[in-house]
Order: sequence, then structure tokens, then C-alpha cells
Amino acid sequence: MALRKLVAGNWKMNGSIAALAELDAIAAAAKANGTVDVAICPPFTLIASAVARTPELTIGAQDCHAAAKGAHTGCISAAMLVEAGATLAIVGHSERRADQHETDAEVQAKATAAIAAGMRAIVCVGETEGERDAGRAVGVVEGQLDGSIPRDGTGVTLVVAYEPVWAIGTGRTPSVDDVAEMHAAIRAKLSALLGAEGAKVRILYGGSVKPDNAKELLSVADVDGALVGGASLTAAQFVPIIEGGA
Ligand code: PEP
Repeated sequence: MALRKLVAGNWKMNGSIAALAELDAIAAAAKANGTVDVAICPPFTLIASAVARTPELTIGAQDCHAAAKGAHTGCISAAMLVEAGATLAIVGHSERRADQHETDAEVQAKATAAIAAGMRAIVCVGETEGERDAGRAVGVVEGQLDGSIPRDGTGVTLVVAYEPVWAIGTGRTPSVDDVAEMHAAIRAKLSALLGAEGAKVRILYGGSVKPDNAKELLSVADVDGALVGGASLTAAQFVPIIEGGA
């Protein structure tokens, strides 16, 4: 089943009020394109300003806490993000799994919280280079899906992003055949976990997606969009990626 593509930008800990000027051309490209959903996930501090500047663009967050409120200094709840105008949240990015030691169970709880608050959750999975070299990439990702996917997720509330850790920010990407193999394995696993809804959940590829490789990567079977880091920071790079998904 061909699903409508989603191209989402993850600004990570980059950006400023001045950088939100990039959103004007991104929103215009999203509108002109019409066949691809587009989202930008700036840092928490820019979400409300981004929504105010380009209300027609989907603005998301890069994380949320699993709890609704309480003594969690420095954290942000899903309801707070919704109040700021976010409509989706990335959870389980490999940088958070590594830097904040997030476990699959925590990622699952965050995804559940995001969905309960009315957002769409983008659950990130992906193997390290060592795991791929050891022939364990598919098994590792299947295990992450087992532990991280909320079982009541649907094609509306849930998105999966396959992001090989070794491809993030490195300029390296897996071969098209490796991407196809992994996305087929993820699709099969989602069907096993979610039944018929598994076929409706979009599976994004992420890791060094650039204007010059976007079209090829987005043409692979079961690649339903892209999660883009560095190349989402400027409209000059991100707009051609959106167009690559059309
Ligand atoms: C990411 O971190 O989600 C990512 C895909 O980064 P980059 O596009 O810079 O590799």
C-alpha cells in the first residue's frame, strides 16, 4: 500500500528566532507540493514562535517526558508541547538513547504519552555500525520495535523512523538494498505487533539524507518519507528533499 510521504526535519540543538525565517520557504514548498506531508521539529524554545510564524506548517518536538506533570526538573510534558502548538513528537532518537541512556521501555512510555496528549509519535530505531558489521542489524531493530512501539498505535498516531546510528551526520548511507531489506523487516514486524494497522504506519528513513540522494532513498519500497537532521536547517537544502518525495 502506498502511503502519503512525510518529510520531517529535526533541528536538534540548533536554531534561533532569526533562523525561523527558513520556515517561510519551507512552508511555501509544502503548500506548493501538496502530495508530501512536511514537519519541522525545532528546539522546545522555538516551538511556539515557529507555530506563530508558519501556522500552516506542522511543528513538532524532539522529545517529551512520559509523565503528565510533576517533579522532573528541566523536562517537558506532552500536554505542554500541545499547548505550545506541537502536533508531533520524535521519541527515542539515537542521540537521546545514547546521551540520556533512554531504554526501549522509556521510549514506549514517551510515545504513549505523546499519543495520549493528541500528538503523533515518531519512534526512532536503528543499529550501530558494530551491530550491522556483526550481521545483527535486523534483529536489533526488531528488538527495539518490540520494546518501543505502543501496541495501540495506528497509522494516524504512529510513525517509525529507521535511522542507522552510523549514518547520522556522517554523510554515509546504507545501500538501497539494505534500506529495502530493513524497511521490509520493519513492515513485517509492525504487522505482527499492530495487526492490520501495521500496514498503515509510515516508516521514514533517516541518516544523511541530502538533496542529491533524497529521490533515490524515497523511491525505495516501504520508505514512506524521511527524517532529516543537518539538511533540514536551511530551506535551500530541505526544499529539494521535500521535492524528492513528490
Ligand atoms: C537525525 O539525526 O535524525 C538525522 C537523520 O541526522 P542527519 O540527517 O544529519 O544525518
